[in-house]
Amino acid sequence: MNAYRELKQAVIDACLTLQAMGYIIGTYGNASARVPEGLIVTPSRVDYATITPDDMMVVSLDGQVLDGHRIPSSETSVHRLIYNARPDVGAVLHTHSLYASAASCLHETIPVIVEEQSQVIGAEIACSEYVPAGQHLALGQVVAKALGGSNGVLLANHGSVACGRDVADALFAAQVLERVAQMYLLTRAAGSPVPIPDEHVRSERDRWLYKYGTMADGTVAQS
Ligand SMILES: [Zn+2]
Repeated sequence: MNAYRELKQAVIDACLTLQAMGYIIGTYGNASARVPEGLIVTPSRVDYATITPDDMMVVSLDGQVLDGHRIPSSETSVHRLIYNARPDVGAVLHTHSLYASAASCLHETIPVIVEEQSQVIGAEIACSEYVPAGQHLALGQVVAKALGGSNGVLLANHGSVACGRDVADALFAAQVLERVAQMYLLTRAAGSPVPIPDEHVRSERDRWLYKYGTMADGTVAQS
């Protein structure tokens, strides 16, 4: 089973990076990437240190196992329902990172409070309603709904999901999400966060996607 070997390895590498950063402990957490027939997703209860591309599972967007000899992640519904709802998403990462998990216990929406959030997450970070992790389909439904058009969402009393156009994009979103959650908790402890106005969130997201790092960004004085 050699299909998508590089992409499978990229997903595994993202999990190892998340584990090294402390975002994933044990086998709590899972990751996926979109492929034409559905998604490739990490297997259930296999130690990330030992996973190889052969352990990765291929699942259709309606939940059928298409390839692989393991059991897909128990939270595969979270991934596939996001891909169903968001054609722009190419990779999804779910972690139980410390600050995002702590923020998820407040059942609050994190407003857009810093520029990297407007650029990379692109919106508020809502919190889904609480669903026990064992209720897989219901969890996927509330998470996809709460995510909306954002690239980050909190799972109440559980963790978070970050997504992006590809694995690298989603990995960066996961890091920004965790940092925003930390900043939100710090700000909440000190006072009341003042959000960035909507029009600036939209313009920063647009700048990040289409202008940042190019001459169109106006970093060089035009005469
Ligand atoms: Zn989880």
